[in-house]
Amino acid sequence: MKKADFQLYARLLGYVRLYWPRFLLAAAAMLLVSGLTAALAYLVKPFLDDVFFQKNLQMLYQLPLLLVALYAAKGGLSLLHTYQMHYIALGIITLMRDQLFRHLQRQPHAYFDYEATGALTSRVVYDVLLLQDSVAKVVTSSLKDSFTLVGLTAVIFYQDWRLALMAILIFPPASYLIMRFGRRLRQLAKESQQSVARLNVLLQENLTGQRIVKAFAREEFEAQRFAQANERFQQVQMKLRLTRGLSPAVMELLGALGMAAIISYGGYQVIQGATTPGTFFSFMTALFLLYAPIRGLSTAQNSVQEGLAAAQRVFAILDLEPGIVDRPGAIVLPPLRREIAFRQVSFSYGEEPVLRDIDFAVKKGDMVALVGPSGAGKTTLLSLLPRFYEVTSGAILIDGVDIREVSLASLRARIGVVTQQTILFNETVRYNVAYGRLEATEDDIRQALRAAHAYDFVMALPQGLDTVIGEQGVRLSGGERQRLAIARALLKDPPVLLLDEATSSLDSESEREVQQALDRLMEGRTSLVIAHRLSTVRHAHRLVVLDGGRVVETGAHEELLRADGCYKRLYDLQFAREEKSSPEQELPESEKKVAL
Ligand code: ADP
Ligand code: MG
Repeated sequence: MKKADFQLYARLLGYVRLYWPRFLLAAAAMLLVSGLTAALAYLVKPFLDDVFFQKNLQMLYQLPLLLVALYAAKGGLSLLHTYQMHYIALGIITLMRDQLFRHLQRQPHAYFDYEATGALTSRVVYDVLLLQDSVAKVVTSSLKDSFTLVGLTAVIFYQDWRLALMAILIFPPASYLIMRFGRRLRQLAKESQQSVARLNVLLQENLTGQRIVKAFAREEFEAQRFAQANERFQQVQMKLRLTRGLSPAVMELLGALGMAAIISYGGYQVIQGATTPGTFFSFMTALFLLYAPIRGLSTAQNSVQEGLAAAQRVFAILDLEPGIVDRPGAIVLPPLRREIAFRQVSFSYGEEPVLRDIDFAVKKGDMVALVGPSGAGKTTLLSLLPRFYEVTSGAILIDGVDIREVSLASLRARIGVVTQQTILFNETVRYNVAYGRLEATEDDIRQALRAAHAYDFVMALPQGLDTVIGEQGVRLSGGERQRLAIARALLKDPPVLLLDEATSSLDSESEREVQQALDRLMEGRTSLVIAHRLSTVRHAHRLVVLDGGRVVETGAHEELLRADGCYKRLYDLQFAREEKSSPEQELPESEKKVAL
């Protein structure tokens, strides 16, 4: 066995160990069941001898009663064993799921930039389920079969060691085949999991993106893509099943070969008078019985291999570095007193730096606007402050304290975020608004909604605060969603605010309302704002102009216009565009969504 495999086993056994008392109970029950099975077989002898030959009437009454009693005991013990085994297996996978969920939650944004949601879902739901099956099967049958194997091998050696040696000649090729089949099954199991993950990814993308699928009339195209992945799943599954079925067939053939050899040789010995027919038949019986557990062990081994494939994928996630976490001894961030400073901050997602030597500060209570062409790195810069991504070099300091020295919880508690794409949950308005402060009272919620200009439309919803708003809030308009997000931020009441083009996807009517809500939200807070419309940040205390990942200009609006640089160009460009397009020419809502 390879070292990596051994570690995998050991790790899985570590989970079983959590349940050791139950495991012992299950094992004991199983041994008793085997014993009772033997006892039942043994009963045939007194039945024949005493009842039929000796015509013992008392035995005739007693034996059927005993039979019923034995079966009842056997049934009860079997149930006990099955129950315990499944209890253990389910307990383990429930624990693993929780661990997976928690661990995924701890992954940084960068992790989710590269993993498909559907594939991750598939691991947590499906791969773990495969493990349940194999844990239950393996722990049960391999134990029983190993016991039987040892016992029966002893019996055949006791009967006739020369024949026994012949009989166990099949052990080496059998183990070799078991290993080969195991390896093949593990590979196939992995492929099967990948094909399920693929199905999940397609399903998830198509269901969440179905508006676009319909808008582009791509239903047939998507259906074919899905059918292809589905067919791939079928193929892999068929290969898997074929290998599963082939394995015992081959093992049996091997057994038959061994048996044939022994019958010829043993029969010859009996004819020669070297051994008695009694010994020979007893030997043969033990041999027949011996091959059953071998077969059992090979099936169990197959299950193990399939389970290990799943375990590997599960552990791969559990072994991920948790990314951005608290340093040991991280302190609670003290309240903001003076300023937030970016000091020589550089950042890259991969090879290419996206931000270079960013250096500026935001004074407490100020509103600072980040402006610059698309792709300049504005969103990236904002995402560094709550440590969604970690700076590559340089530092972000709050009153001189590096944000990497404070606890994530205290840092993020101080920061409110409103972005272009609002993320809402498929729950009630109440739930969504109170998300940042679960203990908020009804009054608090209403107040936040009023301040966010959302109260009237919420009250007009069929169930008011208790209306479920649909996935991502689909049952609301873009502006309504945005105002709920603002109410959520208001309720959290963070001293620092990050706004990322919060109004850019709105028509001018809702933009006005959202802008009013935002102005209200910014009152008395320190804010860093990215605005797609420069007119909304004209009054900012300071504008930081980014281009190509560098700060190219900073200053107040008037200063920057006078400087006649990058900002002036952006401003003129937008001014000219706004002159041209009056609000009346806005696209209707439906076309807008398509254009997304
Ligand atoms: P802005 O908000 O100014 O339009 P962004 O900060 O979103 O710009 O993006 C800056 C650059 O970083 C772009 O070139 C973009 O391609 C790249 N980028 C943005 N997000 C990621 C990401 N998650 N992974 C890799 N590259 C990214
Ligand atoms: Mg952006």
